[in-house]
Amino acid sequence: MKVKGAIRSAVVMALLMIAARPTTATIRYSVSFDHPEKHLFHVTMTIPARSGEVMVAMPAWNALYQVRDFAVRVRDIKAICTSLAAVPMQLWQLDKDTWRVSLAAPCDPGGRNNVEIRYSIQWDDAGPFNSQLNEHHAFVNLAEILMYLPDRRAEDTQITFEDVPGGWNIASELAAGPQLASFVAPGYDALVDAPVEAGKFDESNFESGGAHFRVIVDATSWNHGHLENALRRITAYELQLMGGAPFQEFTFYFHIGPEAAVGAGGMEHANSTAIADTSIEGAAAVAAHEFFHVWNVKRIRPQSLEPVDYTREQYTRALWFAEGVTNTYSAFALERTGLWSKRQFYDDLASQIERVESHPAHEWQSAEESSLDAWFEKYDAYNAPDRSISYYDKGQIIGDMLDMAIRDATDNHKSLDDVLRLMNEKYAKQGKFYDETRDIRAAVEEIAGKSFENFFRRYVSGVDEIPYNDFLANAGLQLKTDAGFSITEVSHPTDRQRRIREGLLHGSTD
Ligand SMILES: [Zn+2]
Repeated sequence: MKVKGAIRSAVVMALLMIAARPTTATIRYSVSFDHPEKHLFHVTMTIPARSGEVMVAMPAWNALYQVRDFAVRVRDIKAICTSLAAVPMQLWQLDKDTWRVSLAAPCDPGGRNNVEIRYSIQWDDAGPFNSQLNEHHAFVNLAEILMYLPDRRAEDTQITFEDVPGGWNIASELAAGPQLASFVAPGYDALVDAPVEAGKFDESNFESGGAHFRVIVDATSWNHGHLENALRRITAYELQLMGGAPFQEFTFYFHIGPEAAVGAGGMEHANSTAIADTSIEGAAAVAAHEFFHVWNVKRIRPQSLEPVDYTREQYTRALWFAEGVTNTYSAFALERTGLWSKRQFYDDLASQIERVESHPAHEWQSAEESSLDAWFEKYDAYNAPDRSISYYDKGQIIGDMLDMAIRDATDNHKSLDDVLRLMNEKYAKQGKFYDETRDIRAAVEEIAGKSFENFFRRYVSGVDEIPYNDFLANAGLQLKTDAGFSITEVSHPTDRQRRIREGLLHGSTD
């Protein structure tokens, strides 16, 4: 996907886009930032009429695996036919998210008529999972403000931002559209997988691993050099690990500062990620996780998450892999690039184990079940230690144990890295999706050259206690639980243990 963000450079792209794109019917959105202090996005959706009726719907969920019913924020919705003059039309609400407009003369589909859906939607929530419009900036996850046509999601789309306050720039990984502050996408799903930041942000750029990176920062005070140094190392490592960039350009959006404590976290998108954290060190650590999502979950993706169902919960058993093993790789990336010490890596793994073991629910909720229950995370009761474990924690541990088990099975000739690369070749690069734990296990077995049926049945689908020290012993490591949880190196490792430990820490094989 090609880009442009800052309005000044979008102009050049806009001219190219006019030449490159045929003028087919396109679903158009106009989003006004008028009176940002009122926190209302004013949306006009212009739909070329195709049949006797038009259905529009607001997604029930996006960004988080939580039904948040964005339609509850919609107000003042109306439909207008723009055939001759603007004629108001009857809107018929079907359920909490969906409306229908029946077309009849003079707005029948025979002519070149458009239906306009106009509404306002209120958002002033900070952080990468939300949307916000205020006098300082706008950050928008587009699925949280834009309605879609359930049966026409694959049609071309265009969005134009209006009434942009003076001095604001707009950044997005969407391709620039034909007008100032406009962007285009080949369908609703692609449109809403690219968040938008508008405001007086700081922008810098760097090249890494043959790809172009943009860093958009909105921060009270921050150290530019430190953040960029960390991003260069993380991107270079992960690109080299996975065999190059599956994109031409990638954008990091950062909100850094004490105010980012509210809504902190990171959200992955196809060619960008939005991250909020109180410190640069924290933001860089989140970046190591989010950037690995470029592969794991965005492109190495379970079939259960495709196509996206915006209307209801979309269940997957694979979040222990999509999120947990992404955590395994953020820790690998931080340690293998020197941003973390070896000690920090051991302490991080020990703390994940301590968290899982201190949750009584680990005795009856498996990693797969925790994935299914992600939709409960919005309830405080669910997050109690005797009710749930985290698929991030358990999945990260499973990833580390798999790495050591594969190294053991292959005399350190193969590792979990090879599993991720195999899945990248087999699924991501072929445009295919994997079938939950079954296909992950198949990839592990192909790399390890032996059955992992026992491992997956007991520790992924089941709730058997993981014999941590059996796996750690392969790398000459041991877990101690007498005075808090810690991982230490055995004092006299065998040559084989030393080789596997070096492999784990450096991502190398023999
Ligand atoms: Zn994640």
